Amino acid sequence: MADAPSRNLLRSARAGIAPMTKTALLHTGGYAAIRALMPSRYLAILRYHAICGAEGYGYADPQICITPENFERHVAYLSRSYSVVRLDEATARMAAGDPLPANSVAITFDDGYADNLQAARILAKYGATATFYITAGCLAGGQPFWPSEIRHLVAAVRSPRLRLAVAGVELDLPLESERDRGAAVKALTKAFKSNLIPIREELREQLRRFAGGPELPRIMLTWEEVREMQRLGMTIGSHTMTHPNLPSAGPEAARAELKASRQRLEQETQAPVTMFSYPNGGADRYLNADVQAAVKEAGYRAATTSRNAFATTRSDLYALERIEVEERLEDLVFALELERFAFKPQPRSGERQGAGGGAAL
Ligand SMILES: [Zn+2]
Repeated sequence: MADAPSRNLLRSARAGIAPMTKTALLHTGGYAAIRALMPSRYLAILRYHAICGAEGYGYADPQICITPENFERHVAYLSRSYSVVRLDEATARMAAGDPLPANSVAITFDDGYADNLQAARILAKYGATATFYITAGCLAGGQPFWPSEIRHLVAAVRSPRLRLAVAGVELDLPLESERDRGAAVKALTKAFKSNLIPIREELREQLRRFAGGPELPRIMLTWEEVREMQRLGMTIGSHTMTHPNLPSAGPEAARAELKASRQRLEQETQAPVTMFSYPNGGADRYLNADVQAAVKEAGYRAATTSRNAFATTRSDLYALERIEVEERLEDLVFALELERFAFKPQPRSGERQGAGGGAAL
């Protein structure tokens, strides 16, 4: 539950340090000295989404976009300064109680945007690797990925107001300014993720009609591209079939999402799929003990959240913390090097405090 305050605290700490100080630290060997003298025993699991500039804002919130140029700067630096580990291997070590290499970083991507292929190529160029969590029902040719579809549809609506009503969910949103449209995307996203899947689908149908049924461009990877990424040494994990908030989807639908996505990914990649990432995050509840148990039952060995903190050998393997990435390398390395002294991972309320790396269910 500490998500929002700790994120705000991080943001203000990051913003409060003069950019020149961060740049100086990066270029004077200050961080290298910290890593050598006080190596991190944490696992910093980086959380990326889309690799794009403004051309991607039609399908992804600008806050989750990192430009390819900056991503390459991240990878060049990370691969030379840290132990970039495979998340499946790191979590297996944690489960066995074995220590992690000093200064361990694992790179992850959520969703499965088409631009992730370029990310995989950049990673391979530097001999690095990442885990890509794929929304298995929403790749090219599947169901449109609703968080992106909402952005496209809202941009296409011509009337000054948007009105949707489905089974007790009523939305009446002004669309007169850019600001209105941004707020409408947020309100729709909240409604789509906090209701049962059939209600989400009816809302989507109404929104499509309202927007005049525009054609969507290709946003997500193809299965052939996923296989190419796998051949480049990337790990393919699951991010469900259709990106619901699992606790709001209901237990049966949640189990079906977990099982079907794993099956589909294994069938397409011909490899075991053991890593999972919970969709959504932020202020809404996106995981609970029942959902964690279902993730374990479905055969996954570890799962990552959007909780902004370092993972440790004491972390719950089915609720691993991640570090939200920053656009600028200076800010990212600042987060990795200095915040680890100031922001220790904290358990969520109601979670077990346990030894070892075992799952708390
Ligand atoms: Zn996601």
